Amino acid sequence: MSQRKIYYFDNNATTRVAPEVIEAMTPFLTEYWGNPSSAYGFGHRTAKHIEEARHKVAALIHAEPREIIFTSCGTESNNAAISSCLQMNPDKRHVVTTVVEHSANIKFCKLLQKQGYDVTFLPVEADGLLDLHLLQKSIRADTAVVSVMWANNETGVLFPIEEIAAICRSHGVLCHTDAVQVPGKLAIDVRSLGVDLLSLSAHKLHAPKGIGLLYVKRRTKFQPYIVGGGQERGKRGGTENVAGIVAFGRAAEFVMERISEENSRVRRLRDRLENSILAAIPRTIRNGAIEPRLPNTSNLAFEGVEAEAILVLLDQLGICASSGSACTTGSLDPSHVLTAMGLSSSRARGCVRFSLGIYNTEEDVDYLLEHLPGVIQRLRAASPASPATPPKQQVAEARHVPVT
Ligand SMILES: *Cc1c(COP(=O)(O)O)cnc(C)c1O
Repeated sequence: MSQRKIYYFDNNATTRVAPEVIEAMTPFLTEYWGNPSSAYGFGHRTAKHIEEARHKVAALIHAEPREIIFTSCGTESNNAAISSCLQMNPDKRHVVTTVVEHSANIKFCKLLQKQGYDVTFLPVEADGLLDLHLLQKSIRADTAVVSVMWANNETGVLFPIEEIAAICRSHGVLCHTDAVQVPGKLAIDVRSLGVDLLSLSAHKLHAPKGIGLLYVKRRTKFQPYIVGGGQERGKRGGTENVAGIVAFGRAAEFVMERISEENSRVRRLRDRLENSILAAIPRTIRNGAIEPRLPNTSNLAFEGVEAEAILVLLDQLGICASSGSACTTGSLDPSHVLTAMGLSSSRARGCVRFSLGIYNTEEDVDYLLEHLPGVIQRLRAASPASPATPPKQQVAEARHVPVT
């Protein structure tokens, strides 16, 4: 599999595995591949490395190591969190979440509705932010959990989780947050945050796919979601993904060391990219609040063009970006996040997310800025909705351009 140079602007979908992380995990694939639960040393010696990794990921979020449960992904962590809150409070059958969550939450909550649970999906305002008064009013005597994401993967908009957790506490309701997009971008301190449960996924912070964690605050009652062997102190069955866990631990250190770079160099790159596009390409607007927002994310609406067509042309240039979430592309539905913010479905279909990371360079941004205006111009010229509508024959020909 050979790969020409790619210009990667899709770090919210997944991130490059850092060479440092590969180096740390490889021995657990090549040499120390024993089962940590085995009686002999070759196996159980790996358990020590799991515990070291647990300390490292705990340090990333200022938790205690015993508050960490390793899972298979962010999706599992979210499902497990909500499920446990319901299972441990069988008399409470109501969940509060938002309309802009990742599909890992939206789909799970829709399944809960089918099973007879009651779910409130809180709306957002035009800038993507929540009305906290509405959140407070939505909490009922039978609410088992409030599950609200910290950073939106599509727009980067941040919810005030500390305030939300305080509201939950004052009502005696458990609070879970999907913080998958946060590590390496903002400091995370579960103590000051005040949440009861928090989800992370390693592949969003330069470790491989297929490893996640759920933080469960000490003394919070927890019902395992995956049941089997006694792994993870009986809280998550299944033989541990030793190499993945070691990678997660190393990646936690790696992103902690780079958090100031993310907030200075990467933020400046994102701002240059965003401001230059807005200045160079007419009828382009930013989606979501400028602040509070992740330092790496920019979501832009290009009026009169289909994002899918933009992405195809960018792909031909070696540029990776996305419309909406990687987990929902392929469907022709416009982003549920952008339509929840009040964008018409035709405008939402013209939105592209650029998400940067520590491996992006000034040259990457130069390359994108060199090519994007031409791409948009070409598509607008080909679009029948464009103000300067070319004759019908030309439209038919031009519309074939993006798909060839
Ligand atoms: C990527 C992502 C997830 C899903 O994590 P996986 O490990 O891919 O299952 C959940 N929530 C948010 C906000 C994400 O960005």
